[in-house]
Amino acid sequence: MKKIIYPGTFDPITNGHLDIAERASKLFDELIFVVANNPDKQQLFSVAERMEMISKSTGHLSNIRVESTKILTVDFAKENSALAIIRGLRHVSDFEYEFQMAMMNYNMAPEITTIFMMPSEKYVHLNSSILKDIAKLEGDVSEYVPVYVLEQLQSKLNS
Ligand code: ADP
Repeated sequence: MKKIIYPGTFDPITNGHLDIAERASKLFDELIFVVANNPDKQQLFSVAERMEMISKSTGHLSNIRVESTKILTVDFAKENSALAIIRGLRHVSDFEYEFQMAMMNYNMAPEITTIFMMPSEKYVHLNSSILKDIAKLEGDVSEYVPVYVLEQLQSKLNS
């Protein structure tokens, strides 16, 4: 079984993340979302909430699993017998960081391949931080997140 992991913060998952997951899940038998559990980084949503939002937003895809981890991405990939890591690339500005990360991961685990994909043009300017900034100021973000995530965002920001 060919598996790919999709690591990230997903605070929260957006339609840009989903676009990448839908494309990558067609190429592999299983795609595992790996939610970073990093207590040093302050996030709006807890790990459990982020995982729940991913599960609810990917119900239409049959070969998706959602996990969280505190260990290195390449170690998680090895422990789960994944062949590859998928990452999204939007702008040239993403490239430098992603390139550095991919090279470090190759040094640590040459057998794990990093694959990059670009989302549909609609989501090229989208990231979770901008989304949260707009939502906090009561802007309309319904085009950019699944309905369940929109509800969770509204209830979190109004609480
Ligand atoms: P991280 O903290 O690991 O960057 P993110 O949740 O921000 O976590 O992103 C996870 C992955 O999804 C990264 O590869 C990022 O480039 C990609 N990504 C984020 N937003 C989008 C988007 N709108 N379109 C495509 N890929 C995206």
